[in-house]
Amino acid sequence: MDIFEDNTKVTDLNSLGEFKLIDEITRDFQCRDKSTYKGIGDDCAVLEYPDKEVLISTDLLVEGVHFDMVYTPLKHLGYKSAAVNFSDIYAMNGTPKQITVSLAIPSRFSVEAIKELYAGILQACKNHHVDLVGGDTTSSLSSLFISVTVIGEGEKGKIAYRSGAQVNDLICVSGNLGASYMGLLILEREKAAWKANPNMQPDLSGNEYVLGRCLRPEARFDIIEILKAKNVVPTAMIDVSDGLASELHHICKNSGVGCAIYEDKVPIDPATIIACNDFNISPMTAAMNGGEDYELLFTVSQKDYEAIKDIPQISIIGHITESKDVALLITKDNKEVEIKAQGWDSFRQ
Ligand code: ADP
Ligand code: MG
Repeated sequence: MDIFEDNTKVTDLNSLGEFKLIDEITRDFQCRDKSTYKGIGDDCAVLEYPDKEVLISTDLLVEGVHFDMVYTPLKHLGYKSAAVNFSDIYAMNGTPKQITVSLAIPSRFSVEAIKELYAGILQACKNHHVDLVGGDTTSSLSSLFISVTVIGEGEKGKIAYRSGAQVNDLICVSGNLGASYMGLLILEREKAAWKANPNMQPDLSGNEYVLGRCLRPEARFDIIEILKAKNVVPTAMIDVSDGLASELHHICKNSGVGCAIYEDKVPIDPATIIACNDFNISPMTAAMNGGEDYELLFTVSQKDYEAIKDIPQISIIGHITESKDVALLITKDNKEVEIKAQGWDSFRQ
C-alpha cells in the first residue's frame, strides 16, 4: 500500500493545459453500453433509455472533508468516487449505465496523480460496465474536489424506494457492517503517530480487510443480480453510507413504520471485531454508527422468506413494526433498546 508516501510531482498540470489533460485522462475509456449514443467530445452526451425509468444521483467529495490525501491512494480514491455513486443506483434496485466526473484540481497535483485517480475510475467503470460520458475540469485554490454524477436505469414498477416498507416485512442487509469505520480509525491513528514522528513506518499489517473496506469500498452489484434471479423485489432499499442506525431511521420515517432488529443477527466480520477490541469499541457501535460500508439494507415481504433465507451474502436482521418511527434493538440478553440515529452528518462537528 503506497499510503503515507510523498507523491513526487512529475509533470506540472499547467504545462499541459485543460484540453490536453482531458485528453490524457479520458483516452483509455470506451463507451460500450447500447444506451450511450454519444460519450465524451461534444457539448453534451446523448443517451437513450426506451421503456425504462431513468435514475440520477450525484456526490461531491472534498479533500479534507471526505478524504485525506495523507493516507488515501489516488487510484483507490478514483475507484471509491465512482463506486459510491453506483451504490446509490443499486440502492434503487437499478443498474448504473453512465457517469460524468467533474474535478477542481489544486496546482500541487501532477498530471500523473490525476491519471492515477482516473485509473481507479476506469477500473470501477469496467467492473460495473459503466461508461464515462463527460465531466468538467477546472482549477482549485485549495482542496481537490471530485463530483461524480451517475445515470442508471430501473425497470418500471421495480424501483425500490425508501418509502415502501410494510409492517411485518423482513429487514435484510448484505455483507457485513462496521469494517470501513474501523479501517478509518486505524488510518487516523497511524496518521497521528506519523505526524508526531515523520520517520515512523505506519503499522497497518493484519488490518488489510478493514483498511480495504475503508479505502476501496465495493458497490453491491451482486446483490441486485441475486435478488433479480430469485424474483425478489425489495419493498424498500437504501445503501449503508451513514451507519445502520441512520439508514433504519430513513426507511422507517419514509415508510411511516417502525422496526425491530436483533443484535445477534447483525453481521460483523471477525476482522472488524479484532479491530474493535484494539480500540475498545463495541462492534455494535461500529455497525450502527460507523458508516461508509456501502452495503444494501432492504426490506422484503414475508412471502419472500424462502427465496432469501439461504443466501450467504444476505442476513435477515429483523422486521418492520407498526410503532411509527421507533427503531428497536433487541440485545443478546433480550432487552429492548431504542436505536438513536447517530449517522455521520457533515455539518456536525
Ligand atoms: P465544455 O466547454 O462544453 O465544458 P470541455 O472542454 O470542458 O467542454 O470538455 C470537453 C469534453 O470533455 C466534454 O465532452 C466533457 O464532458 C469532457 N470532460 C471534460 N472534463 C472531463 C473530466 N474531468 N472527465 C471526463 N470528461 C471530461
Ligand atoms: Mg467544461
